Amino acid sequence: MDMKDNGCPLNGTRTCRLLNMQACAQCPLNGQDAETPEEITNAVETFERLLPEGGIAPFFETKQCCFCRPEAGTPGGKSGYAIFSMAHPEPLRRQPGVLVRKRKRRSPVGTLVPIQAAVCKACRRRMLALEYLPTVTTLLFGTAGLVTLAVQSVSDAVSRVAEWLPLLIWAVCLVGGWGLGRGLVALLKKSYARVMYTDFREHPVISEMKRGGWFEIPQDKELKFVFSKTRTGYGLGTAPSTAYRKAEGTEENGNS
Ligand SMILES: [Zn+2]
Repeated sequence: MDMKDNGCPLNGTRTCRLLNMQACAQCPLNGQDAETPEEITNAVETFERLLPEGGIAPFFETKQCCFCRPEAGTPGGKSGYAIFSMAHPEPLRRQPGVLVRKRKRRSPVGTLVPIQAAVCKACRRRMLALEYLPTVTTLLFGTAGLVTLAVQSVSDAVSRVAEWLPLLIWAVCLVGGWGLGRGLVALLKKSYARVMYTDFREHPVISEMKRGGWFEIPQDKELKFVFSKTRTGYGLGTAPSTAYRKAEGTEENGNS
């Protein structure tokens, strides 16, 4: 980090290390909606308190895949990161009301952090297959239907029965392709689940966070990941394990 001692009250504190900003200009202490040092310290301490022991740094610090089930053997090596966001309602924040002017209502998100989990090549490939298979089979079946119907003799024969029949056949191809894709996903999921967390919310640390009130953003049936070779290196939730409070250690030189 490139931060000079510019008289900032947070300089050198654990709050600063956990915020993990690259430069003072990015710090929530500065800028338009600047927060006070007390507000920031309180927010960062709340964040630390809400996390399972050890924080979320091990997700990106590990050299092994977080998605491979440890009970299925040695996890694959890290080849990149699967990134998504988790939020917690604490600390309480107010946001301007939408319906009633000047009246403030409670913001549903008090803390928002990225979970940047190490992922191996095989798990990434499996997750992409589960996500895109129905689209691929729909496209394949749709294209096959169009190509078949484009053959003159077929087209003539079908149109002779009814004018709308080609359209119906094509629709059936699309629906069939989608259905087949969904069916294959269900089968694959079952087989993948033996070696990996197909639903990452089953990961022990994530399920502990969920029990503590954390929730994923957006709140969909399936977790949506951004896959990346590199990870975000600054902002809350990106600091290394050493920035967190030690389980039984004594307080460092934080201003808390
Ligand atoms: Zn893996």
